[in-house]
Amino acid sequence: MRKLISGLHEYQHHVFKAQKELFAKLSQGQSPEALFITCSDSRIDPNMLTQTEPGDLFVLRNAGNIVPPYGAGHGGEAATIEFAVDKLGVKDIIICGHSLCGAIKAVFNREVLADMPMLTAFLAHAESTRRIVLENYHDIDPEGLLNIGSQENVLVQVENLRTHPSVAARLAKGDLNIHAWMYKMETGAVFGYDAGDRQFLPATEFMNQSGKSSRNKLVGL
Ligand SMILES: [Zn+2]
Repeated sequence: MRKLISGLHEYQHHVFKAQKELFAKLSQGQSPEALFITCSDSRIDPNMLTQTEPGDLFVLRNAGNIVPPYGAGHGGEAATIEFAVDKLGVKDIIICGHSLCGAIKAVFNREVLADMPMLTAFLAHAESTRRIVLENYHDIDPEGLLNIGSQENVLVQVENLRTHPSVAARLAKGDLNIHAWMYKMETGAVFGYDAGDRQFLPATEFMNQSGKSSRNKLVGL
């Protein structure tokens, strides 16, 4: 905790003061650019990744960047999505998976979930991910399984996201975009799903986003 307490001091006395105009503006209200859904993994920093500031991203995080389908529970995910879409009126939703994801590893190695009933139940929302990979990708090594599994999981969660009425209504109006991203933490690269190529492409190349269900087998990143 010593590191965190020292950080609080540094923040209050240096960082906050240096950006007081920004924080004064933010104290009047928020109008974030996007809803950013990602894993709770400590190695991901959405603001650092996108070089954005406080106020730019409305963030939803959990183990495995999971979006339970609408009606699958009354958890914080549905409430957060509803607020971001209906109240804040975000124009973009990003679901960002990542390499070396422990939650996805657990989806394919259920024995590591022993004695964790809540996590086991939560990761059931990635059961489609498990089935898609096991039934469509053969002769895949553990590393490839994790890589492809993380990518497929982002696409599965995009489909789950579409089941939320607030999202479905705005998609029908054509004023909401969903983006499927993958962050490769070993290199810092971000890939976005391209609905035309039906693959994740480097961030500099992807333009045509928001994939739909029909898709090719994915390749390793
Ligand atoms: Zn993760």
